Amino acid sequence: MAFFDPKAKNIANYQRSIDEKKVSVSRYYDEIGRYYYKQYKDLNVDNTKDINTRCDAITKLTNEIEELNVKILYEKGLKLCPNCRTENNLEYTFCFKCGSRFDEDAKPAPAPEAEAEAAPAEEAPAAEETPATEETPAEDAE
Ligand SMILES: [Zn+2]
Repeated sequence: MAFFDPKAKNIANYQRSIDEKKVSVSRYYDEIGRYYYKQYKDLNVDNTKDINTRCDAITKLTNEIEELNVKILYEKGLKLCPNCRTENNLEYTFCFKCGSRFDEDAKPAPAPEAEAEAAPAEEAPAAEETPATEETPAEDAE
């Protein structure tokens, strides 16, 4: 029964987290589109700040998804070549495809300085002024 394999459980958790993050990413893309369109329609509107917060959030989520994918690979006994992104066995010292050397401790814990710069917001921006609620679902059914 592979059901109780802790690796499989970890992978499932990572995958669920990835899926949630992907949903957030598409929601932010949606919101950016709406903000941009409002701005396009009305020159007095400046939504730059709202748009930028969401762009930052997307960058952050994308990095987190990337990290989770690395963790999933690690659970599967694989790692990505930093050069060509080919999946390699964890034990390999050199990429079997391009020959790049792996760092000694290329563990799934990613160096935070590397990618975190672009994402200052700790939490994803809360939809303070939910832009997409023009039509409230009217409950006219008795
Ligand atoms: Zn490679």
